[in-house]
Amino acid sequence: MNAELVPAVLTEAEGRPAVNSSYYSSINPADGQCLQEKYSDKFSDCNFGLLGNLYACEGQPGKVIEVRAKKRTGVHSLVTALRNTLEGHYPDKSLALGGTFIIQKGKAKIHIMPREFSVCPLNTNDEVNNWLKHFEVSAPLICQSVLVSKDPGLDLRVEHTHCFSHHGEGGHYYIDTTPDSVEYLGYFMPAEFVYRIDRPTETNEVGRD
Ligand SMILES: [Zn+2]
Repeated sequence: MNAELVPAVLTEAEGRPAVNSSYYSSINPADGQCLQEKYSDKFSDCNFGLLGNLYACEGQPGKVIEVRAKKRTGVHSLVTALRNTLEGHYPDKSLALGGTFIIQKGKAKIHIMPREFSVCPLNTNDEVNNWLKHFEVSAPLICQSVLVSKDPGLDLRVEHTHCFSHHGEGGHYYIDTTPDSVEYLGYFMPAEFVYRIDRPTETNEVGRD
């Protein structure tokens, strides 16, 4: 079924098995609301299908970029603001960050895909948005985020953030809905490499936000 995965996986290494601590949100068939579940409660594998922007690191201690922000004054989300800032400072480069941020106060707009694929093709952003289920969810929200300041020619989705919470809400983050009271705290690392896996041969610009 379709769902919004919030990936958090410790890969297999010598002497210990892989640990999949991911969450996923789907549409609850009982009431049409958000149903957030822990991946490991139902599955034990680390397979991955469909679409995702994943950040991988060695998990070693070291310096990271800390981002603190509160009170949104513009129209862009935290992630878009970070991307635009990077592109403004380094217009000739493609810079990628991955990390985690917490929406500590306020609320956010998210979507969750319906469990079933659309029965008809979705050809425009409006058609995609009419098919998706949108919700407003409350802080604290823990967000897994990947962003690229500029597509280096890999036909990337240049930002993608999914969130989970400890109160049962989660999904695909767009932006906070409470600009006056929102507070963010995040930790990011620059990427050394960007890999594009299973790049589609046919592409379009639909549904990239
Ligand atoms: Zn998403």
